[in-house]
Formats: sequence, structure tokens, C-alpha cells
Amino acid sequence: MLSERQLFLRHIAQTSESPLMLEIERAQGLYLYDSAGKSYMDLIAGISVSILGHRHPEVQRAIQNQLEKYWHTLVYGEFVLSPQVQLATLLSKNLPNTLNSVYFTNSGTEAIEGAMKLAKRVTGRKHFIAAHDAYHGSTQGAMSLNSSTYFTKAYKPLLPNIDWLRYNNFDDIEKITKKTAAVVIEAVQAEAGIISPKKNYLKTIRERCNETGSLLILDEVQSGLGRTGKLWAFCRHQIVPDILVLAKGLGGGMPIGAFIADKKLMDKFTNNPVLGHITTFGGHPVSCAAALATLQTILTSDLIEQVARKEKLFLDNLKHPMIKETRSAGLWLAVELENFSVVQQVIQNCLKKGLLTDWFLFNDKCLRIAPPLTISEAEILKACKIITDALTNTKE
Ligand code: PMP
Repeated sequence: MLSERQLFLRHIAQTSESPLMLEIERAQGLYLYDSAGKSYMDLIAGISVSILGHRHPEVQRAIQNQLEKYWHTLVYGEFVLSPQVQLATLLSKNLPNTLNSVYFTNSGTEAIEGAMKLAKRVTGRKHFIAAHDAYHGSTQGAMSLNSSTYFTKAYKPLLPNIDWLRYNNFDDIEKITKKTAAVVIEAVQAEAGIISPKKNYLKTIRERCNETGSLLILDEVQSGLGRTGKLWAFCRHQIVPDILVLAKGLGGGMPIGAFIADKKLMDKFTNNPVLGHITTFGGHPVSCAAALATLQTILTSDLIEQVARKEKLFLDNLKHPMIKETRSAGLWLAVELENFSVVQQVIQNCLKKGLLTDWFLFNDKCLRIAPPLTISEAEILKACKIITDALTNTKE
């Protein structure tokens, strides 16, 4: 009989030649447990997803309650479904008042697609601007925003009329013109290896968009829900985007995404043509119930206030001669090492010691640290010790 590992390789579509292949049996809090009973500290939270850790009791309770009521009922947007309505209302209450209409999707990439379509409808324009080294998703519209020909060339033709800015380069902001439907940009660049915007950078982009009549689409798929120490990373920059894109942490471990705009803009989807953007599963009631509990828990706890202290604890304890630089934006760190081979060795050494970390799509010299916000101070100290020991056991 074939083992599950063999069946995985045979029947699960593969996306790389070297999957990690941990056999996960269960997960709780910060920890993943494999079939041999070994535990792993999850320092990447499913790539910024499990923002409250695995199977947070409030989220689990909300899912269980919703399972008792109804699951899927009808395609998106027809029925008044309490988990959707309550979640959209709570999101709107915690956003500037022009971000008051929420379109729920199943994922980040779908939310980007919807946001791009909305920008076309609102502006009547077709050109988009994105930043180099940004990942916005794998469907063809979102992938068109990817500046890396390594990732895109096999899939051309993608969307035409895309241009790129170098993130934090003020001169490139001139590329935004009256032809630009929207600028799609991250509040902190995630896959580039945690690149925070320079002072006034996002504000200058906002002002340029105002001048040219272009929309500002802000991707907070990784940075949202408190990861950077504010509920939304854009709060630090005195800007309000026209469209905010969320996913990952929003569902607290369940699949959901959203793009959020002013109702005046969003109403473009209702006519000419009707059903301007549709989805069967978007805003699934069980995912919305999980997201509502996640957001309520974040808002009613002091988890966001704890972020700066926990970030500092990581920074103070991640000291090692092999570390070139550590960039951070809250509980979100990129630890820069010599090269990819060193990063790979450290990841493997950490796995042996029961800690899961990763690199970044556009920055393979850096280790990714993005734990659940619920990680304790003692767990941070333990994680830093495992990582620095793993560095000591690695040859440069
Ligand atoms: N935007 C950002 C910043 C992301 O990191 C990702 C996923 N890594 C996406 C969008 C796409 O999200 P999804 O994988 O849910 O489609």
C-alpha cells in the first residue's frame, strides 16, 4: 500500500520540486504537530494567515456555531447573511468612512482581480501601475502586476498596459499619469523582504493619484489585521486608499479575502452590465463567522498593543555575527543572511529543532518571521535561541 507521502506526490498537484512535506496531524496555538508527534513552533503562521494562532478558541466557537445554522446558501450578494453583514459592518466601523462597502472573496488574488476591475469601471481607464518585487496573486490579472519575468514569461500574454515603480523611489511616481486607472501597491512590501515605505512615500503616491484621477489600491493582504502594530498598516501614513485589499489573516485560518471601497464606487458593479463581479463561494458564511470572531478578538484584546514589545524582543535576541541586517514591521521580520544556501541550511536546522521558518519570494537571502500575534514572550525567547543556534550550526 502506498504511504500518504507517496499518494501526496502522486495525486496532489505539485508546485515545486522540493515541498517541505511535514505530515501535519494537528495544530494548536503556535504549534504544528506532525504524525510522529513532533511539535514545530510556527513562525510563519501559514504565511501571515493564522494571526491568532491555530484553532483559536473564539474562532473555533464561531465556526462551530455557524456550522449548526447554515453553510452555503446561494451565490454571493443575493441573501442577507448575518455573518457577512456583521463582518462588513465591523470592518467599516474600523476604517475611514470612505471605506464602507465590502466585497468578500475567497482569496487575496480574487480580491485584487475585483479591485482592478472596479478601478477600470470607475475611471474608464485600462493602465495599471504596480511596484517591482511585489506579489499580488497567481491569477492572470494579479499575476500581470508581477514585475518578475522569471515568474510571468511562461504565461504571456498577460494584461497589457502595466508599468512598474521602484518601491520608495520618489522619481518613479511621475509614471502615474492621467491614463492610469490605479496604482496597486503594498503598505509594507512583503515578498521583497519586509520593505517599509519611506516617510511621505505613500502620501506622495496618494497625492499624485489625486492629481491624475487614478485610484490607489492598497494591498494589505499580509500587513493587515494588526501584524505591523496598527490594525491597518496604512494608518501610519496619513493616507486613505480608494480600495483596500485584505485576505490571509482576515479569516483567522479560514479562507476569505475582501476588497473595500466607497459604496459610490462599488455600485458600479450593479449595472451596465449587471453582475459586474460575481462569485459562488465568496464571503462563505463559515469563513465570515471565523473572520468576525478574529476581528472581534483582535479589537477587544491588547494583542496589537503588545506587537511593539514583542517586535523589540525579537530584535534584541536575534543577534548573531552571521546576521547582516534585520528589518521589521511589527511582528514581521526579515533576517538577512549571506545567501540562499545559508538561508536553506538555517531553515533545515530550525526544522530539526522544531521551528518552522521560510524565505521570501523575491528575497531569498532573508529568513521570514511572521508568527501569530498570540506568540508569548517566553516563546519568542525560545524561538530566537533555536534560530541563533541554527545559525551557529550553519556553514557560510
Ligand atoms: N497580496 C499579497 C501581498 C500576498 O502576499 C498574497 C499571497 N501571498 C496575495 C496578495 C494573494 O493572496 P492569495 O494567495 O490568497 O491569492
